Amino acid sequence: MGRSTLGFVSSTTRLRILLTLLALSSAFLVFVTFGGDDAPVDERRDVAFSELVTLVESDVVLAVEFEQGTGMVAATLESGESVESRIPPAFGDQFVDTLLESSNQIEITTVPPPAGGRDWATFVFRISPLVLMIVLVWMILRRMNGGAAQRKKFRDRTRKTGAELPSVTFDDVAGSDEAVTELSEIRDFLLDPKRFSSIGARIPKGVLLYGPPGTGKTLLARAVAGEAQVPFYTLSGSDFVEMYAGVGASRVRDLFEEAKKEAPAIIFVDEIDAVGRHRGGGSAGNEEREQTLNQLLVEMDGFDVSTGVIFIAATNRPDILDPALLRPGRFDRQVAVDRPDVDGRRRILEVHADGKPLAADVSVETIARRTPGFTGADLANLLNEAALLAARRSRSTVGHAELDDALDRVIAGPEKGSNTLSEREKYIIAYHEAGHAIVGHVLPNADPIHKVSIIARGKALGWTLALPERDKVMKSRSELGDEMAMLLGGRIAEEIIFGDPTTGAANDLERVSAIARSMVTEYGMSPALGLQKFGRSVGESYAASTARNYSDELASKIDDEIASLVELAANEAREILTLHRPVLDRMAEALIEFETLDTGQLTEIFAGLPVFEPSGRPTVEPVVADLR
Ligand code: ADP
Ligand code: MG
Ligand code: ZN
Repeated sequence: MGRSTLGFVSSTTRLRILLTLLALSSAFLVFVTFGGDDAPVDERRDVAFSELVTLVESDVVLAVEFEQGTGMVAATLESGESVESRIPPAFGDQFVDTLLESSNQIEITTVPPPAGGRDWATFVFRISPLVLMIVLVWMILRRMNGGAAQRKKFRDRTRKTGAELPSVTFDDVAGSDEAVTELSEIRDFLLDPKRFSSIGARIPKGVLLYGPPGTGKTLLARAVAGEAQVPFYTLSGSDFVEMYAGVGASRVRDLFEEAKKEAPAIIFVDEIDAVGRHRGGGSAGNEEREQTLNQLLVEMDGFDVSTGVIFIAATNRPDILDPALLRPGRFDRQVAVDRPDVDGRRRILEVHADGKPLAADVSVETIARRTPGFTGADLANLLNEAALLAARRSRSTVGHAELDDALDRVIAGPEKGSNTLSEREKYIIAYHEAGHAIVGHVLPNADPIHKVSIIARGKALGWTLALPERDKVMKSRSELGDEMAMLLGGRIAEEIIFGDPTTGAANDLERVSAIARSMVTEYGMSPALGLQKFGRSVGESYAASTARNYSDELASKIDDEIASLVELAANEAREILTLHRPVLDRMAEALIEFETLDTGQLTEIFAGLPVFEPSGRPTVEPVVADLR
């Protein structure tokens, strides 16, 4: 169909004109009402929804403000800073739950969407008839025009949040040396794209950063932009989930257009798995996602590296990505961002301790040793918790005590009041934890016990903190055996002392069963069944299950072997605790008195306890090869 001529104006066009007139007059009204006032646009930092959730979960949020109907939410932080994010529709309820569960008493309010005014009552009163009319017209238009207005609104938001010039550099990233090395090449390219293209060097068009959440992938991507001083455009995969048809794709298109104009630039697609999931494998309703993904692929293919635009994507689920994304010319360079090792943790702590005065008694080295498995985000959170505690205690520096308490909090969740426990329950928990601790202490291959407590944290009524002396990449059969006995120590202590065990050991038993099963079916650690893996993994790893590939007869042998491993561990725990009954009693009493026992108190209680060498375990004679 052709365009409408002057004499034949279509009804849509007429409505458009009407709308424009209405908008103009309302703008005039607003101007008249508020003219002269400075526009009260808050300095709010835009953050990803996931970051907002992390902030809430790390208890630094004081208040949140929901914007009615827009899905926008603003949060005020303890630091006084204000951040803003958009809630993906599917997460609304969940987010409210998260807020309510927070141990901070977060103040929750709702506000109308902003229209530029501060004095709401007057404003709403004056323009409400106008708003009503606009809404009416908008609804008619929308019906005729199928979401075009929605798309426009979204595009405007993109424009608003457009590019960013990050101030972070590689110096802000610690303990990810390999990733930094890989990315330095990208930085060099962005600093001088011509130099590279003139000698025909092939620079990867896209880099995929993958690794567990909190390991600094977003930080690394921003650091590349900060180092090269180029604009940084962000898309977050999760934004596209459940969006209006076509919005995702058009947003991608706009963003690429803008980045091309500003080149050299970086386009960062965070949480790319949310859009980049294997196509065709999912449920209904992912059409939008596929459209967005297709658009992304189309745009990437339409680009030449010489334009100076580099793509960086991040995911913690590289396994579920659509293979099309990883083809040459797309995200063909993949960089692993792993959890830091002890030295990496030390350096991350040093980076984040900058600006937080640490007391003289604090050894960053020791904290690094005590935090195996922590990511950069966990460590940042730990230091922040410690600083908050120090402030609450009116200290001028962050001391060892604060870090210690923060560590407990971060590892096991915030303390819960223990006053609801009866005296008998307290004793049961005390004996249970003492049982774990004593068995763990005397067995030579169990991790050293650092702390024992009967103060409930998270779901646990009491807890025994055993930490390895170094990061482990694998475990031996003796270590697994000792671990099982230690896990059963709690339950066995209950049996020995009270003769009437409780449900408190459910989680311990679950872990013991899992270890025993893996020893038999995966690690070849059952002499009777030998060096085989039983069962075959099926499906993608996020929905992995095991299919049986052995006979019924073998299945019952496997069950027998598992049962005998567990029984062996239980007998060891029983032998140890019967032998050291006086220490068990002493430790339970100490727990009732102090509730938490630290390393110093534990050393006193354990003094003189001999190492226990388990005798009944199956062994394989080591074969000594003749090396003559
Ligand atoms: P990811 O994107 O991998 O989930 P982020 O980049 O969002 O992780 O990390 C969150 C925060 O954790 C960062 O802003 C930073 O404060 C801290 N962090 C994570 N990794 C590191 C690191 N290697 N060095 C310093 N800080 C880190
Ligand atoms: Mg991230
Ligand atoms: Zn237990």
